[in-house]
Amino acid sequence: MKSVIFIAPPASGKGTQSEILKNLGYLHISTGDMLREEINKETSLGLEIKEILAKGNLVNDEIVNKLIENKLKNIAGPFILDGYPRTLEQAEYLNNLFNSLDIYNYEVIYLDISLEEALKRALGRLTCSCGASYNKYYDELKPQVDGICDKCGKTLKTRDDDNEESFRIRFKTFKENTEPIKNYYEKMSKLHIVSAMEDSSKIADRIKEILK
Ligand code: AMP
Repeated sequence: MKSVIFIAPPASGKGTQSEILKNLGYLHISTGDMLREEINKETSLGLEIKEILAKGNLVNDEIVNKLIENKLKNIAGPFILDGYPRTLEQAEYLNNLFNSLDIYNYEVIYLDISLEEALKRALGRLTCSCGASYNKYYDELKPQVDGICDKCGKTLKTRDDDNEESFRIRFKTFKENTEPIKNYYEKMSKLHIVSAMEDSSKIADRIKEILK
């Protein structure tokens, strides 16, 4: 199976699709998760990052490039890049890194979703520290008991940046930054556009077909 770079707006379901691929043996590399880990450690860098995330802005390229480089250097087998690259500069940095590590067997998948649908998904999103995720606005994604994880019984949380104001900024920032990235990968014949408006199993089938 090929590795995959997800270029996907917030709340487009890349987390759900990543979980499906993880069960097929993929390593999930999410810059958002790595940044949240840094925040939880309460380091001074973590506090700086926390403010940036809460406003819905992007963390600077140097920080995320370094996080990605450290991960990719120590990797064997197919991986998912989730949330990176988010700027053209990051895409160019990644391409150089791939060349230096002889990584060529990958595809880029753009998950396409409207702002209205993504906003509904984000405002209903509930996550657990064990990695499970739910959505209170979709019957098939609700936890069995309100606010409690089906898998481990812990209390579910909403993300700090899943409020409407922050979400609209994140979505707009994403759109502004990703057009050049899409063009970049299109020129490399790596880009695949997949509608994220379908149900998650249909989207997963389409993705698996691309990564065969
Ligand atoms: P995500 O979990 O992918 O939605 O990311 C959450 C937040 O982390 C984003 O809104 C950004 O503030 C930050 N972030 C994640 N990945 C990147 C990246 N590649 N470049 C800059 N900031 C990022």
